[in-house]
Amino acid sequence: MSASDCPLTKMPDVLRAALECADDGIVIVDDARRITYFNAGAERIWKLAPADVLGGDAAILTLKCLQADPVVDFRDEISLIRRDGSRIKATIALSSTTIDGTVNHIIFARDVTAEAERRVRIGLLNAVSDQTNRAVIIADVEHNIRYVNSAFTALFGYTSEEAEGRPAAELIAGCHTNRRAIAKLVKRLMAGGRRGEVETLVYDKSGEEIWVCARLDAFRDNKGRLRHIFALVEDITESRQLRSLQQLIMSALADEVPITEIADRLCRRVEEIAPDVVCSLLHVDAAGLVHPLGGPSLPEDYSSALDGIAIGPDVGSCGTAAFYGEPVLAEDLDTDPRWQPYKAMPLATGLRACWSTPVKAKDGRVIATFAFYYRESRAPSNWHRRIVDACVDLAAFAIERKEARAEIARLAYHDILTGLPNRAQLRHLITTAIDACPTGSHVALAFLDVDHFKDVNDTLGHAAGDELLIQLAQRLREQIGPEDMLGRLGGDEFVILLPHRNAESAEQVATRITEALAAPLRLGSKLMPMSASIGISLYPDHATDIDTLMQQADAAMYMAKQAGRSTHCMFNAEMNGLTEQRLAMIAALRRAIAEGALSLFYQPQIRSCDGAVHGVEALARWHDAVLGDVSPAKFIPLAEECGLIEQIGLWSVREACRQMAAWRRAGLNIPSVSVNLSPINFRNVTLAARLQDVLTEHDLPPDALMLEITEGTFMQDGAAALETMHAIRALGIGLSVDDFGTGYSSLSRLAHLPIRELKIDRSFMRDIEKDAGALAIATAVVRVGQGLRLTVVAEGVETEGQRKMLAELGCDVVQGYVYAPALAPVAFERWLIEHCAEQARAMLGQLEVKPAVAVKRSA
Ligand code: C2E
Ligand code: CA
Ligand code: CA
Repeated sequence: MSASDCPLTKMPDVLRAALECADDGIVIVDDARRITYFNAGAERIWKLAPADVLGGDAAILTLKCLQADPVVDFRDEISLIRRDGSRIKATIALSSTTIDGTVNHIIFARDVTAEAERRVRIGLLNAVSDQTNRAVIIADVEHNIRYVNSAFTALFGYTSEEAEGRPAAELIAGCHTNRRAIAKLVKRLMAGGRRGEVETLVYDKSGEEIWVCARLDAFRDNKGRLRHIFALVEDITESRQLRSLQQLIMSALADEVPITEIADRLCRRVEEIAPDVVCSLLHVDAAGLVHPLGGPSLPEDYSSALDGIAIGPDVGSCGTAAFYGEPVLAEDLDTDPRWQPYKAMPLATGLRACWSTPVKAKDGRVIATFAFYYRESRAPSNWHRRIVDACVDLAAFAIERKEARAEIARLAYHDILTGLPNRAQLRHLITTAIDACPTGSHVALAFLDVDHFKDVNDTLGHAAGDELLIQLAQRLREQIGPEDMLGRLGGDEFVILLPHRNAESAEQVATRITEALAAPLRLGSKLMPMSASIGISLYPDHATDIDTLMQQADAAMYMAKQAGRSTHCMFNAEMNGLTEQRLAMIAALRRAIAEGALSLFYQPQIRSCDGAVHGVEALARWHDAVLGDVSPAKFIPLAEECGLIEQIGLWSVREACRQMAAWRRAGLNIPSVSVNLSPINFRNVTLAARLQDVLTEHDLPPDALMLEITEGTFMQDGAAALETMHAIRALGIGLSVDDFGTGYSSLSRLAHLPIRELKIDRSFMRDIEKDAGALAIATAVVRVGQGLRLTVVAEGVETEGQRKMLAELGCDVVQGYVYAPALAPVAFERWLIEHCAEQARAMLGQLEVKPAVAVKRSA
């Protein structure tokens, strides 16, 4: 087949030359499927020489579209397998035309192998870029988006069709996007600078905020000119912003940052990552009152106005959310019914909506509310919800930690038994009250000590003692005002802090307490009588520092004890240093007992009828190297206070008996020795047995011993003391009622007591010569004693006149300076010898009939 058969032979040469120059392969095949034209381009595609194909069968072209019958027009990209077996990608366009009645098939072929390969590569790249969860954006130099991957669609909601062609800024940037940072980075890239990244808030198709980290880089051509900007955008909402909140709180907790500081930092951080929000955290206390913990962007006066508001079913957003335990959204404070009483302040500061979420403890209690305020009427975005979701648990954790700390502090500052503030807390409260005390005002401090509390513990057990303290605390609380504070120092000591009270007002409280304690407490089935002694000091009148005030209240309380208990005492200057003195004295007394530094002096008791020695009273003496001679009137009550009296009493008995035995062995016949015992000695049920032991040890008859007891012994202590008294009397030991006339015991009661002797108190002696009343009492006592067949002793008799009068009254025995003071044993021995000599002289005188002397010297 020659080329002259080709329809192109009729074409002008120039056109034929043009076809030869074409890039595409052009082949013409006649209706008998013979190749009639094959240009240079076709040669390149099929790698065949025209000489080999012209006039030959078109099958050599391996085109399926030519094999069809009839041949139809075709246009497609195909895989072309050449005769030599090599393959290329080619686009084939086949169309048939009829020229001069003959059908010609014209084939245009183009080698697209390179392009196809590029397309595959791009497809692969796409697939890869779609694999990553980072959004990819490619924009041109005009910042119009040219490419986005599927992650972009997933993150922002725009399909690639919606995104491509649009300016990136228009698509995802919004009011809180950091445009400046992005612009700066782009500028740097345009100027040939290095890639960089920026963290910013962007917005998705529905307007939701997304925190992203965008890494920006440039695609440049081979001349280095910037062609495209490439952005790899990562959603860091979860990974950074929310986690950073958690880290913020956790590290603050680890650093022991106070809860208000944590709340403050949390709110500030939230406002950074959610710029539309004004954030606040309110604590809800056990009583259902809210207290601002943090809200750095809320106006100060609004925050303080919230403090102490009670939660309720329609108390703004927070109060309501706390009340129901559900989030509450008020989209418009102005119209929301729950906000009507509270809306003025937030509206005035430009806050219009409030969304509050309850923060719950592990046990479900609402312990706080976390609120987002908005400047426009709106609802929270998803981003805001995610922040709150992340924060409520953290806030709960932080607040629970705070509560746990508060509980530990409560335990550290409160007395476990009564729940009252303890010593540490009291000091704090007192300091605060003093600091807050305005000039001209006062703070009173009252110390209260339960009278004979030890007895309750000793006789009824510690459980009863505890119960008594609890009930007592309750009663005390009822007697004090709302501003007053009650605390327990420990043991049976309570403190009442009375701010804004002067001396008079404080004393009124003390009186009220004393009266309230008059009614016995019920302990199980028992009714316990109880009383307390109260001492009061006053700031600033008595002292201005807490330690001195406490010491003074303590000293005054001690004075109240001394004044007979069940009363109160206001501190005065004379009590200064009393407490320290007292403590020093207790220590010294303890030492004196241990070292045997106490001694007994003896005072004779003389029979009125014949001047003979009736007995001696043993009186304790204490000489201390530092304190000098300490009066028993001082150290005996102290010993009773601090529990040393028990030892002193038993020591007195032993020592007196030892002395009596010694005297008897020396031939000094003293009928009996009187030993003073405290009521406390009679609470010891083993007393009688111990006395018997002492008598046996010294081989003394029981009537050689007389015990002096006060009315208190059988008045207060009832049954137990009475039993001891009977046991002692049964041993044959005498009992004498000391200081008779000063107590309250009815004379008729004496008849039922196992006593042998009455001692008229020395206070009656002083006025007996001039005061008819004193004489009347002395007379009555002598008569009663005689009626009861008791020996009546007058003590404190100082003058001959007194002695005479008592003798005339029929008083059996006289004791006092008129004969001798209490004397040390050796001095007493000398006195006794002298006295006996005098006695003898008197008797001799009587024999010589010298009645005047006899009357004067012995009645
Ligand atoms: P009391 O038992 O009433 O003892 C009498 C007190 O009067 C003694 O004081 C004595 O020295 C004092 N006195 C004696 N004659 C006269 C006098 O003519 N005029 C005046 N004004 N006073 C006189 P003292 O020794 O200071 O004892 C005071 C109190 O201490 C005693 O009062 C007694 O209650 C207590 N006491 C003393 N020794 C002991 C003791 O060993 N055990 C106990 N439980 N109490 C003791
Ligand atoms: Ca006495
Ligand atoms: Ca006495």
